[in-house]
Amino acid sequence: MDTTVTSTSQSAIELYYKGLEEGKLKARRCKDCGEHTFPPTGCCAHCGGWSLDWVDLSGKGTLLFATHNISPACHPRFEPIAPYVYGHICLDEGIIVQAIVQGVKATPEDLNQLFQRGQTPVEADILRMDDLPVLAFRIIR
Ligand SMILES: [Zn+2]
Repeated sequence: MDTTVTSTSQSAIELYYKGLEEGKLKARRCKDCGEHTFPPTGCCAHCGGWSLDWVDLSGKGTLLFATHNISPACHPRFEPIAPYVYGHICLDEGIIVQAIVQGVKATPEDLNQLFQRGQTPVEADILRMDDLPVLAFRIIR
C-alpha cells in the first residue's frame, strides 16, 4: 500500500532516516516512469522527474553477494560491530541495495558457506546505532 507524505520542511533523506527509526524502508516512486528511487532523493534517479510519491518497501529481498568489510570500520559508529559482513541485496521491488548483513560471521569459512548456498532470502533488520539508525539485513533461513 502506498503512503503519500506531504512535507515541505523535511528533506527526503531526513524522512528516510525517520522511516528507519520507525522500522520502515521509505522510497520514492516516480509518477512519470514508475521506477523506485532508494535511498530516496528529491528527484527520480531514472528519468530525472520531480513528481514522486512516497512508498514503504517490503524490506524483503534476496542476498546476491556478500563479503566482509575493510578494517578498520569505515566510520566510528561501526567499530562496535566490526568486522561485519556487507552485501548486495535485491529487494522484492527490484531495487538493489548495499548493506550490512546480520546472521553470518565475517570469517572465510562462513562466507564460503554462504557463497556455496547461493542466493539467500533476507529481510531488513535496522541497526540502532548511537547517532542514527542504519539499514541492515538478516538472513531469514
Ligand atoms: Zn522517473
